[in-house]
Amino acid sequence: MHDDTALTVGRVTRVLDERIRPAVHSSSVPLTVEVSELPGEPVPPAEGIAGRYAPASVPAPWGPAWSTTWFRLTGRVPADWAGRRVEAVVDLGFDPSLTGFQCEALVYRADGSPVKSLNPRNQWVPITEAAAGETVELYLEAAANPVLLGRHPFRPTRQGDIRTSSPEPLYTTRRIDLAVFEPEVFELSLDVDVLLGLQAQLPSTSPRRQRILQALDDALDALDLQRIAETASDARALLADVLAAPAETSAHRISAIGHAHIDSAWLWPVRETIRKVARTASSMTALLDEHPEFRYGMSSAQQYAWLKQHRPEVYERVRAAVAAGRFVPLGGMWVESDTVMPSGESMVRQFQYGQRFFEREFGVRSRGVWLPDSFGYSPALPQLLRRAGFEWFFTQKISWNQQNVFPHHSFLWEGIDGSRVFTHFPPMDTYSSELSGAEVARASRQFRESRLSSRSLAPVGWGDGGGGTTREMVGRAARLRDLEGSAHVEWEHPDDFFAAAKAELPHPAVWVGELYLELHRGTLTSQHATKALHRWAEHALVEAELWSATDAVRTGAAYPAEAIDRLWETVLLHEFHDILPGTSIAWVHREAVAALSDVLDEARALADAARRSLAGGGDRRLVFTPSSIGGTGRPLGAAFVDDEADAASVSLVEEADGWLLENDLVSVRVSADGLITSAVDRASGRDAVAPGRAANLFQLHQDFPNKWDAWDVDRHYRRSVVDLTAATRVTASVEDGVAVVTVVREFSESVIEQTIMLRPGSRTVLLRNEIDWNETEKLLKLAFPLDVQAAHTEAETQFGYQSRVTHTNTSWEAAKFETSMHRFVLVREQDFGVALVNDSIYGYDTSREADDDGVTTTVRLSLLRAPRFPDPETDHGHHEIEVGLVIGADAAIATAEGIALNSLPTAVRGAREVEPLVAVRGDGIVVSAVKLAADGSGDVIVRVYEALGRRVSGALEIGFAHREVREVSLIEDELESPRRGTELALRPFEVRTLRIAR
Ligand SMILES: [Zn+2]
Repeated sequence: MHDDTALTVGRVTRVLDERIRPAVHSSSVPLTVEVSELPGEPVPPAEGIAGRYAPASVPAPWGPAWSTTWFRLTGRVPADWAGRRVEAVVDLGFDPSLTGFQCEALVYRADGSPVKSLNPRNQWVPITEAAAGETVELYLEAAANPVLLGRHPFRPTRQGDIRTSSPEPLYTTRRIDLAVFEPEVFELSLDVDVLLGLQAQLPSTSPRRQRILQALDDALDALDLQRIAETASDARALLADVLAAPAETSAHRISAIGHAHIDSAWLWPVRETIRKVARTASSMTALLDEHPEFRYGMSSAQQYAWLKQHRPEVYERVRAAVAAGRFVPLGGMWVESDTVMPSGESMVRQFQYGQRFFEREFGVRSRGVWLPDSFGYSPALPQLLRRAGFEWFFTQKISWNQQNVFPHHSFLWEGIDGSRVFTHFPPMDTYSSELSGAEVARASRQFRESRLSSRSLAPVGWGDGGGGTTREMVGRAARLRDLEGSAHVEWEHPDDFFAAAKAELPHPAVWVGELYLELHRGTLTSQHATKALHRWAEHALVEAELWSATDAVRTGAAYPAEAIDRLWETVLLHEFHDILPGTSIAWVHREAVAALSDVLDEARALADAARRSLAGGGDRRLVFTPSSIGGTGRPLGAAFVDDEADAASVSLVEEADGWLLENDLVSVRVSADGLITSAVDRASGRDAVAPGRAANLFQLHQDFPNKWDAWDVDRHYRRSVVDLTAATRVTASVEDGVAVVTVVREFSESVIEQTIMLRPGSRTVLLRNEIDWNETEKLLKLAFPLDVQAAHTEAETQFGYQSRVTHTNTSWEAAKFETSMHRFVLVREQDFGVALVNDSIYGYDTSREADDDGVTTTVRLSLLRAPRFPDPETDHGHHEIEVGLVIGADAAIATAEGIALNSLPTAVRGAREVEPLVAVRGDGIVVSAVKLAADGSGDVIVRVYEALGRRVSGALEIGFAHREVREVSLIEDELESPRRGTELALRPFEVRTLRIAR
């Protein structure tokens, strides 16, 4: 036979697009349209429905950026439509390729009850209550969200903030009608769509492909293009056989779950996400009602909480569907947070507040963590997941790697402490599947575990800005249940998928360490103000809990649980994976800075009130210590009278080319231009600074990535660099017993004023930087060439640190040219190390430098960036960044100095010293939280961890009357057989949560 494949495919494609799909709605009549325009912030639905409406035509322009237009649609169902399914068909000017990224609407009845949403791929509204001859009255709350990514990606735009956006209408209505829905034409469109998609994935020589092509030709022969509704059944009959052929025995099995990835803020502000959630959830509950086999999953307790507060009717529908087991709360977190930058306590609270909400509202817990889209995953997570009670982990983001293809789809992920969690990456490589033939085939073709396993998971539905699953996707799934040539597709709860996948793989492969995303490395640095305030708020809240709990136990004061919960929830929201990473529009970051500043103020006020209550009235100078590391100095949670007498001293001597700063531990040379040319540990005589080099060197790079401006630093940035060695002014003095050198550097559009400080008795040179930053597409690094031949860097993560090799032997290491830390990064030889500590930054890079004498290690901290998309003025303005160079450090010293820089003692005038509630015995055991139990019992919760990566035996000492001490889960759940008592035998990086019953 001749090969007619191309002819058939072309014919079917055209007829499907131009004839069959348009015929799904046959007869139609226009609805009467009136509009009420709101330029500013949204109003509650009742107010919108009661607004003043003016007549409008179709087509007509509407909607300046971020405005809301309320549409009132009225009409009468024609008498001759009796017995037909009637729908409103609304095209607000949609671009079908941009679901979730442009205008959307929520449809209400006249009584204010929500029906479903309208978006580019979902343009219909069921008219269920109106029989033929009756009137229809609908209201649309239409949001004119601007398209910021898609048509001209990554171009700077002023549309990202309502304060700077254009007043011009963005959209033009195209069609607003009542129409008859033709079920048989709709089914035919899906039959043809699925077979067309499937045949394209089959080998050209495959008999199955040829049979499908012939059946499609036969079906179109039977279809009268002028009478599609009347002949659709005849065409379908000719496709029945090829659709009934069952799948092969070894076919891949896809567990589908309806889904809409809804970014809690990104190219829209939080207020719009609140509406996005309501729109998507209303459509998804409606879809669940119509399709009994369908299941839908939604993550983020925060999004449910918004729904409950702002659209209670939709929330009630969700609650009913959750109770029926069809709407699945996913992930057990407050939001889908970043996991690289939040502190250990923040990650714990993500799980605790998330699970507590699901438990309280629905009586369910999530059994897995669902993070399809955040930018890399901390190696502390496996332990945190397991100890919070989770059984599985899901993401797909690592498929975005620029360089290396991850070798597994189902595997055990092992963290820094050795904990393992079963993990799955969908081989479909998307969190927004539409179940196209290509996607289904890709899942089957790419699945790395096919030798042993047959199952993968697919989140199905439009995402990022929401939208969710469509009836077309549900229709595809029905046809793909058991179809020759295709993977099986079945709607399934992710817990059931994970149980089956685990059963198939009793000995999965193991991946050890961080899940590093080889992309979006700039997210460790972009939007510094958001990151700094977040870091400070995290520490301020932990401190507020500590002093409030101490006050409650010591004086019987009320514990401000409600305020603390509210403040944590605000912090947790801002850990969302486009807020903390700095990849949202200007509007989002403007609001984030304001919200986190408020949290910081309130948390500090709570801590201050508790300290004053503890200190009582008096005039003694009491020093409150908010932190400690086991085996060193004062315990945390204590207040003691400060003797104000410090025997240690510091000297500052002017030399020919700069100054010598010296105390008992270190001597540091600062050059006349403000660089650190030597930093000697006096005990060992070792100089931290590489020979002939200078540390504390600011370096300015051109930083213009190929795309994803706020997200990406591309490796080529290193090729252009300016060393900022010129100083406008350098002065030195001893102030209040501290040796101080002040350096001012003016360059380009910016100014850095740096204070270099050495205190008595400290091995840390403190570098306090005030930066007025007005650059464009630049990256500011602070370089420390260190005379250390380090095999690894050790960078703090949650509850411990992770090691990364310093070489670039393989593509995997070479790809890690920008990496993450929390409060410290340490490089060391056996007996000498140097650490860099910080109060607000996360990114660093490492390089090995060689000269005739050997290899040294340069560590450079990433201070500021200046990308122009999506926020055209990212990072412009004033920043405060504190960094410390710790001379002669090991893991214990680095940990302690990192903690000390972030939680400073506070002096209060009062009468009473305060005994700490708890103290730990055991080198390297850190207390990360002291708080009252979430259940309101008044019990004290203490969390400790082993910080140094070794085994330790120690104990908790309790300074108040108590009944019992027992271990609980990270989120304060009772354990089946808990350890009891105060002894602490910890494994490397182990985290324990203890409940002390009073
Ligand atoms: Zn996302």
